[in-house]
Amino acid sequence: MHARIQIVKQLKYYRIPFSGLTTGKHNFEFEVGDKFFDCFEHSLVKQGKLQADVELQKRENMLIVNFHVYGTVRLTCDVCLTAFDAPQDFEERILVKFTEDEWGQDTEEVLTLSKTDYELDIADLLYEYINVRVPYYKKCSEQGTNASCDPEMLAKLGSSADLESDTDEEDTDPRWDILKKIKNN
Ligand SMILES: [Zn+2]
Repeated sequence: MHARIQIVKQLKYYRIPFSGLTTGKHNFEFEVGDKFFDCFEHSLVKQGKLQADVELQKRENMLIVNFHVYGTVRLTCDVCLTAFDAPQDFEERILVKFTEDEWGQDTEEVLTLSKTDYELDIADLLYEYINVRVPYYKKCSEQGTNASCDPEMLAKLGSSADLESDTDEEDTDPRWDILKKIKNN
């Protein structure tokens, strides 16, 4: 119960009260760090240091929300099991429409709020935007800084070539099982 209250408190920060805003553009900045990811049990990203610049354009019957998210997320390399900071820099945009019909359907780009709503919760959007960008196969080289796997770790785990080849062959090497477990987690 206590943990749940903490989460609600933490995520409350990611709400934009738009009802009192004048029509036109308004800018907001949000920090997205470890505490944010802690709120989502199934988040692929557990740690990170990002900033979200949000431009909310208020119109008569809708909101146009532009996101610019940048910083780093901490990932673990699937080859050498070393944690590394992967840079992120992306933009997203969403339209928010208002309806009295409670059954309005949300799609990727259009979010429907009730006419009585007065704030926009962007926590779930940020969570999705960030997690959807985590590569299926995470490698040190994804850092984009010519980084390569930790040679000491590779030596301990066996060479990366060994790990990447013969995947369909029955391999009883216990190190493989450890890797598989981690990947299936
Ligand atoms: Zn690596």
